[in-house]
Formats: sequence, structure tokens, C-alpha cells
Amino acid sequence: MISYVSTRGGAPELAFGDALLTGLATDGGLYCPAEVPTFDTMAELAALPADAPYDEVAFAVMWPFVEGSIERDVFRAMVTDAYAGFRDPAVCPLVDLGDDQHLLDLTKGPTLAFKDIALQLVGRLFDDELGRRDAQVTVLAATSGDTGSAAIEALKGCRNVRAVVLHPRGRVSDVQRRQMTTVDAANIRNVAIEGTFDDCQDLVKAAFNDEALRHEFGLGAVNSINWARVMAQIVYYVTAARTLAPDGGPLSFTVPTGNFGNILAGWYAKRMGLPVDQLIVASNRNDVLTRYFDTGALSAEPVVPSFSPSMDIQVSSNFERLLWESSGRDGHAVARLLSAFRSTGNVVVPEAWTASIRADFDAGMLDDAGTLAEIRRVDERVGRLIDPHTAVGTEVARRLRRNPAVPMVVLETADPAKFPDAVEKATGRRPSLPPFLSELMERTEHYVEAPNDLGAVVEQMRSFGP
Ligand SMILES: *Cc1c(COP(=O)(O)O)cnc(C)c1O
Repeated sequence: MISYVSTRGGAPELAFGDALLTGLATDGGLYCPAEVPTFDTMAELAALPADAPYDEVAFAVMWPFVEGSIERDVFRAMVTDAYAGFRDPAVCPLVDLGDDQHLLDLTKGPTLAFKDIALQLVGRLFDDELGRRDAQVTVLAATSGDTGSAAIEALKGCRNVRAVVLHPRGRVSDVQRRQMTTVDAANIRNVAIEGTFDDCQDLVKAAFNDEALRHEFGLGAVNSINWARVMAQIVYYVTAARTLAPDGGPLSFTVPTGNFGNILAGWYAKRMGLPVDQLIVASNRNDVLTRYFDTGALSAEPVVPSFSPSMDIQVSSNFERLLWESSGRDGHAVARLLSAFRSTGNVVVPEAWTASIRADFDAGMLDDAGTLAEIRRVDERVGRLIDPHTAVGTEVARRLRRNPAVPMVVLETADPAKFPDAVEKATGRRPSLPPFLSELMERTEHYVEAPNDLGAVVEQMRSFGP
């Protein structure tokens, strides 16, 4: 049974179910698995036929992480149920772009972005775990656009969960906002915060760091600080490799990155034994990570809005997990480094840590003009509209790819119809929403506006009543 430990070395070690419900550790750190299982010890995965469906692979990959906290049959059924509604039988299908470059299409869930893949499972895990404990939580989530709707879709039917979702006012696309605010469910509150995504994320962290609030509301987190999300994302790296490199040959991934959750799952897949050649971090103008790979220093700059708003982030929460692993799991050193970063906005990461991180990653940035040019280019070459986040990935992948003999997989993180303005600007064609969302722009919205202030957020949490 795998237990979970905090990246800051000052919180209790927990079982999967407790780490799931706890979200942020009490010392401010993130929970990580104390041991990382390797594929060569996972007999069940090895025994699967080459054409095993997604949910079977998903179960085999994730079972070691949850074993001991949930019944095997319950988890098996939950995984199947989570992916049954996806609009493609492969769940995460591959699309050929030519030159052995591929898109891994992660947009087939209910909200058209990759976050559905983890959250459809996480919502079910929450409800199951809470049901067995006869407990309730209030989930507090910050969103740069896509997490919010994916969380709301995943949680709207949950009996044991209430959710308050914070988005930065005016900084998410209309489609993204409407996907959140047109859901009319008694257990959901949408709040438009006067600030940036980082402000929203700070409000969530402030609530979690407040013992009294945690206690009063039983706070839960479905942001990618929750380990279960990273875990569920490991699966599609494995399914891509099973398809593109069935003989175990190497392959590379490029990931449009904001909070570092998606690409971190790729790093875990590599640790588990997936033959990953390059893991490429692709950023927009908010390029704190790219600058870190160049300089070895983390230096925050003000967030600038871009065509890829879900990557408009300067403090990538999940990077902490990588720092912790690269430090040799020195939680106290990680806590010191991050507290210095908090107060000064600029820290040099110890050289040995950076050397180990650089060994696993490459990183590149693409600005807004380049993003539009890339959307156009892919449309002209392969006749497929891609969204601005994915375009950052395809361009950076081409630029940083080391070996043309190794398949390159770019993670397609959103459907272009979520960002129709940018796509139309680039190509003159306006992508349309799939039929099941065609009335989105006419539906009534439900949300409140609030200042960047924890008190206002607490008021919303109280609004559900006892
Ligand atoms: C959330 C998101 C990202 C960034 O993913 P991280 O896990 O935060 O790095 C990229 N693209 C889209 C469309 C997203 O919704």
C-alpha cells in the first residue's frame, strides 16, 4: 500500500483516501506518493492485450496508487463509469500530423478540455470516499478557465460535495465562463474574482492555510494540487505509448503547460518506466518555467493575458512536486526555497536540483503572434483547427524536437470551439461547438462578482447554509 507524504516535510503521512480529501497538506505542501511503482512490477498491466480499452489500462496503471483505500471492484467500476460518456471509444485518441508527430486528443469529455479526464474520476472518488465516511466537504477551486467547468461537471451530481469555484473576472473566454455559470445546481457557486488566476489560487491557498476555515467547511481541493488528478493523467501517456511504440521504443511528449500538472504526470510515467525521450514544457508569454530552465532561477513577473488563458500562470503549483523529488525529498529545503520565492519573487534553485530537472525536461515559449501563425499553419498543412493552447505545443514541439526518428506526441488540451475568437482570427474560420453544447450562448448564467478578498469567498461558502 502506497502512502502519501507532503513536499514540505511537516504534515502527517496519509493513505490515498485521506490525501484525496485533504488536498493541500497542513504544512502548505502537496501530497506525493511515498513510493513510485514501476511498470515492470505491474503484472496486470503487462498482461493486457495490445488493444485493451482505455478503462482497463487506466485501472491497471492507477490501482497501485489507490490500493488499501478503496475496494478493487468499486474502483474498477468507477473507472469504467468515469470514461463511459467520452465522445470517442478510445477516450484519448491519437491524430496523425505527419512526420511522426501526433496529437493526443484529450478533449472528448463533457467540457472539451483535458481536465475532464482527471476530474470525471476525481468527482466519483470524492463522492465514494465521503459516502463511506458519512461526511461532506466544500470544494474550493480556482480556475484559469477549464478546471472550473470540468470540476462543476464532475461535482454537480455529488451528494456529499459542495463547490465554490473562483475565476478571474474577464480573464476567461465567454465559452469557458458559460460552461461554468450556466450549470444550475444547488451544490455549486461561481464567483468572478476581481483579479488574476494567481490571485484566485492564492485565495484558495489562504483558505486552506486557515485552520478554522478548514475545520468549519471540511475544505476539499480538486485543483491539480490534488494528487488524484496527476494520477489520472498518467494513464494517457501510457495509452499513447502502447499505440505508438508497442515494442517499447522511445517516444517524446510536448505539453502546453500552466500549473505543471499535466506534464508532471508525464514525468511520473517516465519514472514508472515509460521510455520517454523528451518531455517538453511549452509556455505562452507567461514563461516563468521557460526562464527557469534557461537561468536556474525562479522569477515571477506580472501575469499578462494571452490567447491561451489556461496557461496565464506565473506560479506553477505542481512544480513544487518536482522540486521536492529533485532535492532528494528534502521537504524542509523545499519549504525554505518556496517561502523565499513567496517573499522576494525571485530565487535561485540549488544547482544540483536544477541539473536533475534539466536532465528530464526541455522548455520553450511561444507568444500570441506565433500562436496565431501556428494555428493557421496546422490548418493549412493538415486541415485541422487546433486551439491556442495546443498550438503553443505543436510549434514548440517542432522547434525543440531532437530526434525525428522518435515519435513526438503533442497533448491537445482543448477543443478549438472553446476559443473561437483566436481561432477565427488565425484562420478566418469559426469553430462551432459540438451539438450537445449548441445552446450554451443562450442559457442563463448564475454567478456573483467579488473582490480579491478571502472574506468574500467565505461568505459564498456560507451561502449553502448548514
Ligand atoms: C489547464 C490547461 C492547461 C495547463 O495545464 P496544467 O496542468 O495546468 O499545466 C493547458 N491547456 C488547457 C486547455 C488547459 O485547460
